[in-house]
Amino acid sequence: MFDINTILRQNIKNLTPYSSARDEYTGEASVFLDANENAFGSPLSNAYNRYPDPMQHQVKLRLSSIKGVPVRNIFLGNGSDEAIDILFRSFCNPGVDNVIIVPPTYGMYQVSANINDVEARKVLLTEEYQLNLEGIAEAINKNTKLIFICSPNNPTGNSINRDDIETLLANFNGIVVIDEAYINYSRQKTFIQELTEYANLVVLQTLSKAWGLAGLRVGMAFASEEIIEVMNKVKPPYNVNEASQLLALEALGNVAQVNAWIKETLEQRDKLVLTLKDFDFVLDIYPSDANFILVKTTNARAIYDFLVQHGIIIRDRSKVELCEGCLRITIGTPAENNTLIETLQGFN
Ligand SMILES: *Cc1c(COP(=O)(O)O)cnc(C)c1O
Repeated sequence: MFDINTILRQNIKNLTPYSSARDEYTGEASVFLDANENAFGSPLSNAYNRYPDPMQHQVKLRLSSIKGVPVRNIFLGNGSDEAIDILFRSFCNPGVDNVIIVPPTYGMYQVSANINDVEARKVLLTEEYQLNLEGIAEAINKNTKLIFICSPNNPTGNSINRDDIETLLANFNGIVVIDEAYINYSRQKTFIQELTEYANLVVLQTLSKAWGLAGLRVGMAFASEEIIEVMNKVKPPYNVNEASQLLALEALGNVAQVNAWIKETLEQRDKLVLTLKDFDFVLDIYPSDANFILVKTTNARAIYDFLVQHGIIIRDRSKVELCEGCLRITIGTPAENNTLIETLQGFN
């Protein structure tokens, strides 16, 4: 059985979190002289002179109604990358504990592990880019705290089999982190409805992809109240700034626009796949549940360089394990995708 107390770091268990002025008094008042702010205002037409809400309540309320998840189960970070780092700092003792990652996958899990001096045990995906459950079971030991699963996976684009993820959730006594950065593009169901089922589940989502707000740096983690409490204790007090909170709130009011873009992105993806298939240098295009495709080519580096010369930047993933010869291409606007295709017609 999963018990958060058996995996939490002792120093975090004992931690008295920083108590900010805005934590100590949260009610209404006419005069705030408690946070050493500039009471006169700021050069920005009197805005932003006050510290932001450390718990981002308004944004969480809005997310709660969009996602159907209670506010107490939502953590907000400076991008989901911050949530990844906070999971390491909360649960992994440097130099002692380990996590499991399943390459080829998102690079930040490994980088965050390195920064925190935590061993990342690699269990490669299968040739079909699915979990190697036996390999994962062998890699787990008593110091394994986190397993990172990215679904839909970056850079391969496919979703990970739901049954396999549930097997991990049901049998692993540490935390299973499911990174759903691309879930809005997927035919697969999100795991955020399963929080009541699995106490060891953390789901990461972000406003950086389908929501079109990569510049704001707002990421979400959904988990049990116990896990969210720990993450809130460890996070920097004002980790999501006021501008990001206000703009995120405004953007979250326009779900319809985002849904229209998702639909168009998927149409563009299908179209791009059909067109790319006919190029001689394209060997394979992997099925994608995301807003990018992974394309296996005869000469990845030459194609990449050729596109750079024509002002088009894609991602060369050909040096990544299990991605030999592969390029990752983000789906653009119709005009951008046409430019890509027309330019590739000049490659030989
Ligand atoms: C892009 C991406 C993210 C986003 O991170 P943010 O810090 O929220 O911008 C997270 N996970 C994966 C797999 C990604 O590809």
